[in-house]
Amino acid sequence: MKNTAVVFNIQRYSIHDGPGIRTVVFLKGCPLNCLWCSNPESQNKKPQVIYTSNTCIGCGACLKVCKYEAVALKNDKIQFYMDRCTSCGECLEVCCTNSMEIVGKTMTVDEVIYEIEKDKQFYSNSEGGVTFSGGEPILHSEFLHSIVPKLKEKGIHVAIETTGYGEWEEFFKVVKDMDLILFDLKEMNSEKHDKYTGVHNQLIIENAKKISKIKETIFRLPVIPGYNDEIENFKQVVTLLKELDHECSVHLLPYHTYGKEKYKKLGKKYNLPEVESPSKEDMQKIANIFEKSDIKASIV
Ligand code: SF4
Ligand code: SF4
Repeated sequence: MKNTAVVFNIQRYSIHDGPGIRTVVFLKGCPLNCLWCSNPESQNKKPQVIYTSNTCIGCGACLKVCKYEAVALKNDKIQFYMDRCTSCGECLEVCCTNSMEIVGKTMTVDEVIYEIEKDKQFYSNSEGGVTFSGGEPILHSEFLHSIVPKLKEKGIHVAIETTGYGEWEEFFKVVKDMDLILFDLKEMNSEKHDKYTGVHNQLIIENAKKISKIKETIFRLPVIPGYNDEIENFKQVVTLLKELDHECSVHLLPYHTYGKEKYKKLGKKYNLPEVESPSKEDMQKIANIFEKSDIKASIV
């Protein structure tokens, strides 16, 4: 059983990713490529180099050591080309301003448990726990098989935030051990889902129906103005949740631009520069669609 995973962030004191105060462990790698992704560093499974132009003093030390032409001088400025970078790490050794950094670290089960246990007193005081997120945690199934029983033996509540994308057998093998599933529903129309995320949604919808019968599931809906915020989309989510013969709730996640800087650091183009966050009033209108159908909706 694989004992390691590539972790790109361990976020403490989170109050939006499950009940109570939580530690969120973000694992790298995702089968989707959402236009609005706020964690673009999560998409690639391997550790990656990122570049921060604000702190770069233009000394050129990285240029001299890079054998792959991943850094170049353009109009007297350093330009980083992520697609050519092999993450060899040579430039990190010579960059005195830490403008070149590596995101993602291979960690063992014991190392991750050690980090999680630092927050244990917050879990017991708030009925919180740990949430595995990403990327898509299912891609690290062996790691999760190994770590989740150990956390539960220690009395820690374990949740997973998932895109729901994967063959049922593989998906179920991982999520069956979880206490709570935070299940993303990004767009109900499969053609649009493909256009926005790079995959169709049939597998996701099927998995949503099956898993919510077995496990406590909260559906998480990102709200992206001009993309998936048509009333019809939410009405279809209501129809789906009403088809399930048990109670489910939704979290509505308003679009934000916090991830914008990360695209720059990765040398990637930001996909939605024209999109603004939805207003509180618009979010409330969407929440009302669910409340009217007796589905609990929280704006998080
Ligand atoms: S980590 Fe990337 S940018 Fe840095 S020296 Fe290696 S290939 Fe070049
Ligand atoms: S070594 Fe660091 S500070 Fe110097 S040019 Fe490269 S990124 Fe900038």
